[in-house]
Amino acid sequence: MSAPENDSSRVIVKGASLLGDKSADLLIVGGVIREIGSIDARDTAHGSATVIDADGLVALPGLVDLHTHLREPGREDAETIRTGSMAAAVGGYTAVLAMANTSPVTDTAENAERVFDLGRAAGLVDVHPVGAVTRGLAGEELAELGLMNRSRARVKVFSDDGKCVGDPRVMRRALEYVKAFGGVISQHSQDASLAGASACCHEGELSGQLGLPGWPGVAEEIIVARDVMLARHTGSRVHVAHVSTAGSVEVLRWAKAQAAKDGHWSVTAEVTPHHLLLTTDLLSGYDPTYKVNPPLRPVEDVEALRAALADGTIDAVATDHAPHARHDKEHAFVDAAFGMLGLETALAVVNTVMRGNDLLDWAGIASVMSANPARIAGLDDQGQGIAVGAPANLTLIDPDASVTVDRDASVSLSRNNPWHGRTLTGAVHATLLRGVATVVEGQLA
Ligand SMILES: [Zn+2]
Repeated sequence: MSAPENDSSRVIVKGASLLGDKSADLLIVGGVIREIGSIDARDTAHGSATVIDADGLVALPGLVDLHTHLREPGREDAETIRTGSMAAAVGGYTAVLAMANTSPVTDTAENAERVFDLGRAAGLVDVHPVGAVTRGLAGEELAELGLMNRSRARVKVFSDDGKCVGDPRVMRRALEYVKAFGGVISQHSQDASLAGASACCHEGELSGQLGLPGWPGVAEEIIVARDVMLARHTGSRVHVAHVSTAGSVEVLRWAKAQAAKDGHWSVTAEVTPHHLLLTTDLLSGYDPTYKVNPPLRPVEDVEALRAALADGTIDAVATDHAPHARHDKEHAFVDAAFGMLGLETALAVVNTVMRGNDLLDWAGIASVMSANPARIAGLDDQGQGIAVGAPANLTLIDPDASVTVDRDASVSLSRNNPWHGRTLTGAVHATLLRGVATVVEGQLA
């Protein structure tokens, strides 16, 4: 005899197209997918089940973001862990990795646990803190990598994002250190002597015309090349954050082939939605909304990034959601903060760019936005797909909805939204975190 079940925890999702393929009903019991097939909601056994009508909707596993800036602690005027979690849920996410460049920096076990606990208290998505690689992001001494991993937050991904770990000796040590527990170093690839802190426009004709400090693609590419060599040398795992150039894609393609042959090390990479669609010419109006690091690139790079995401050279889409208070963005271009919002719009951008151009189907989108990021981050309760026995982390999407983005409709505390006024295809209808709806009909539950 099976254990008595609490009927109130039963959810039936009726008639969703699973990963864009055949339609089926899902029975969710206690937060776990119990049955897939034809489920009669009128069956007395399901008498008190919550029924979600998903006719015409596509079901994907809950999205996982490898690269989110939540700004808490330190800049709660721009975003909090709660409002960032709200934006993530609205965007179809069930887990996010919160970058370490907060104030204080997430460079100790105590700070990591604080972020983790605030995420749990918000309860809308799983918030996994990313640990800093170096103390205070100063690039010199390693942070408490082992202690953060052994903490309640179980940190596995480390990054000084916002800054590049520039010293190869420090990068080597970090790769050696995390190898012991299967961790990964996520690198913000920016050689400081080729692209310094003020570099803010792709280096080329336009940066010259606009008089903006240039950020040449090679400043990214040489760090990617260096780091894959260090990963090979140490037998460890490196992850390249926000890849932005065709040259980096070439290096990655070579490195992945080597890693597959060697077997003892690996390299993974992510691309942001904005680098898949927006191009450097948007900077001609000096609108700081489009100021991001790495900068928007020319169309040839954008095309190479799309192709690399489609063929698996780039593993994942990550938002680099970077909320900023108005007073940090409303400056002359060179003085404004870097970064743009991304959580609420990522799925629609990827659907528009990748599925809209026949570069990925829904199963492919599930790979790059859920399964692969979960695997890279070592999350075993996310990205498992839609299968009996898997946690019911789900995103239900209206695939053909045409939505004009309105920055004032955002649940984020910030408004630096580069998609404002654009029409995108696809809308998140509902999000379920372990069977509990966090979003219903596009609104927070
Ligand atoms: Zn970065």
